[in-house]
Amino acid sequence: MSKVLIIGCGGVAGVAIHKCCQNSDVFEEICIASRTVSKCEAVKAQLEGKTRTKITTEQVDADDVNQVIALIRKVQPDLVMNIALPYQDLTIMDACLECGVNYMDTANYEPEDIDDPEWRAVYEKRCKEEGFSAYFDYSWQWAYKEKFEKAGLTALLGSGFDPGVTQAYCAWAQKHLFDEIHTIDILDCNGGDHGYPFATNFNPEINLREVSAPGSYWEDGHWVEIPAMSIKREYNFDQVGMKDMYLLHHEEIESLAKNIPGVKRIRFFMTFGQSYLTHMKCLENVGMLSTTPIEFEGHQIVPIQFLKALLPDPASLGPRTVGKTNIGCIFTGVKDGVEKKAYIYNVCDHQECYKEVGSQAISYTTGVPAMIGAMMLLTGKWNKPGVYTVEEFDPDPYMDALNQWGLPWQVDDNPVLVD
Ligand code: NDP
Repeated sequence: MSKVLIIGCGGVAGVAIHKCCQNSDVFEEICIASRTVSKCEAVKAQLEGKTRTKITTEQVDADDVNQVIALIRKVQPDLVMNIALPYQDLTIMDACLECGVNYMDTANYEPEDIDDPEWRAVYEKRCKEEGFSAYFDYSWQWAYKEKFEKAGLTALLGSGFDPGVTQAYCAWAQKHLFDEIHTIDILDCNGGDHGYPFATNFNPEINLREVSAPGSYWEDGHWVEIPAMSIKREYNFDQVGMKDMYLLHHEEIESLAKNIPGVKRIRFFMTFGQSYLTHMKCLENVGMLSTTPIEFEGHQIVPIQFLKALLPDPASLGPRTVGKTNIGCIFTGVKDGVEKKAYIYNVCDHQECYKEVGSQAISYTTGVPAMIGAMMLLTGKWNKPGVYTVEEFDPDPYMDALNQWGLPWQVDDNPVLVD
């Protein structure tokens, strides 16, 4: 029986809130707080009378640490669920430390302003030393480890699907299927169609930054960086069919490389249609993906934020998206001296998600694990002071909860491998 403060009220948070309200034994009370409080009130209105969970709402600008501290002191939660944007991760972690409250999120920190000289200096050093140049990485949040340990608090990083569930799959495979995992390919396939010429399935700014960045993978103890979208494979996904997929940099590679002993290669692939890529390239070429403000008729405009205002809101895609997602991990390795392979994955249907919680499957597959990660912390199943990613905890209760709360998984012990 717990009280949770949920910060953010977009597509993913909407699903997490619905799932918390289905699980009132654990989530007795939630406070939804976001920049635009009317969105929180709208979700509250949808759910009230249909759940035993008590819901309150608040307005907060989570870029301002003092506002978050004041809010936590007012609400007195057992846990803060950060489902706003990666830009707010550090201010919310600081506020949790100040108030003595556990923390969790669904995506690792990246700065809103990549021209900030202080951030840029650290970024350029990391690019040189680590060998990958994505804007997001775990170093900023891992730097909080000692502070959380000393405070006796837990911070759970990245409990969405990928990152999140994919790391639980890795920990489960390590625990139950392999003595040693040699390769991991994470495959993220969205076979959904929303009928728009171009839209992103989650926050456009975060999504387009991720996809337009150079790709990279982990091999033999170091990063290999490649130009964006330059490694392409085809894969025949269960219940979706043949899709083109491209190698991207992704945050869970960074933590898995540290936490899966003996792993030799980790790659991440995401499916994209040609039309999406053509639109993205064109927008990039004309400067619409830039985060640097420009002066337009007396106003300062950030091109990618203007683009976000033009694109469909991801939270509005639910009613019109049909088809399925298929996300999972293909492993190769050794068990009892014998080489083996396995593929653990989930298939999720966009329209089924919409019927259940009024949202498409991308928000669903992220919002459900956000609720589950919170449940792990609140019920004490995952409890160790410090800053951790999902694969650093016992995967069994999390994997059981995935089956119970809407993201059932299956194991194929003879999958086709990606070359
Ligand atoms: P949305 O843009 O739909 O929602 C973001 C929410 O955060 C909005 O309600 C927004 O408020 C709020 N917000 C933004 N800035 C602030 C601020 N300064 N203070 C308070 N609230 C703020 O994003 P999504 O729901 O699509 O994504 C949410 C998170 O989930 C992101 O971090 C994303 O990277 C992550 N994600 C993780 C995935 C995974 O598998 N791990 C997959 C997909 C997403 P307002 O309404 O006013 O704009």
